[in-house]
Amino acid sequence: MPPRLPLLLPLLLFYFPFSAALRPLHDQLQHDGQRAVFKSVTTNDAWGSFVHLLDLQRGSHVSGLSGLKRYLVRFGYLTLPDRAELDSDAFDARLESAVFLYQTNHGLPVTGKLDAATLSQLMTPRCGVPDAVAATAPNRTGLTERFTFFPGKPRWAGQRPLTLTYALSTAHTITYISRADVAAALRRAFARWEQVIPVRFVETADYRAADVRVAFYRGDHGDGEPFDGQLGVLAHAFSPESGRLHLDAAEWWAVDLRQVEAAEAVDLESVATHEIGHVLGLGHTSAREAVMFPSLHPRTRKVELKVDDIKGAQALYGSNPDFQLSQLAEAEMSSAPHPKITGGDKGKSWIRIAVPLTLTLMV
Ligand SMILES: [Zn+2]
Ligand SMILES: [Zn+2]
Repeated sequence: MPPRLPLLLPLLLFYFPFSAALRPLHDQLQHDGQRAVFKSVTTNDAWGSFVHLLDLQRGSHVSGLSGLKRYLVRFGYLTLPDRAELDSDAFDARLESAVFLYQTNHGLPVTGKLDAATLSQLMTPRCGVPDAVAATAPNRTGLTERFTFFPGKPRWAGQRPLTLTYALSTAHTITYISRADVAAALRRAFARWEQVIPVRFVETADYRAADVRVAFYRGDHGDGEPFDGQLGVLAHAFSPESGRLHLDAAEWWAVDLRQVEAAEAVDLESVATHEIGHVLGLGHTSAREAVMFPSLHPRTRKVELKVDDIKGAQALYGSNPDFQLSQLAEAEMSSAPHPKITGGDKGKSWIRIAVPLTLTLMV
């Protein structure tokens, strides 16, 4: 165990109370102490290894820093001139700048250092779409508007109101939730966007001809963005007018968190609502409570569009004439953060991973 690891463990213990699903781990703790706790919260091996980087800062040279560089390159925070620099384990000025940018974009203390809060965020499961970082976000016109678009601001063309068809793949799906329940969750997710913009989504059985094609895939599925197993990256979607919306089949998807006790359960409707935002042309926002924020904790339901989400979508498509943004804006002023859903009737809770769930944007 590296000397710095024990410093992080109290923080991780704070964020990750045990659930029933982790009971064997709890038993293991009696023998193996904190090391077991740490294993329990690092489901994604690639990102879990970042814990060894705790408190590193500019000037450090530690094995594993190249992995962090790959992560920051992948999600839009770091550009490197050559492969040699990517493979280097040196914490140089370029990496420090990327950490500054990452911390700024996630509302973290901007230390330039790999402190506990930053590492926790880095290890949180996320959307595979890269973030639109502060330095390049095109629409930072005010403190309350944090939404972004894909480069070039693509959107679906056509007369308003626009009608788009969507379909769920029959070949690439999950079987432990009924198709009717998956379809109902998708229906609710599409409906949330329909309420605020003049776009209608109509389900079709013709997957190949559908404008929006929803599929569950595992691992490498041919689009250059392989999924990574449970947690880590949860889903990704492509910019208009691709229509591809992919969910990682390795996740423990749930359509009703009250009926699922698994600590790793991920709310399907929440992720689908986020990914449909990408399908429409929205990028990630830095507004934490918005649906288009790149991360989502397990066992959390986050489906209500916020003013930031709505303003972004309406900047692309205009407003649904039946929708009044002002009423929502007033309500949002006094609303509380989205609730954590506990599992089953025993009130067991997962583990609030203090890491963002970034959904990947692919263009
Ligand atoms: Zn994909
Ligand atoms: Zn996303």
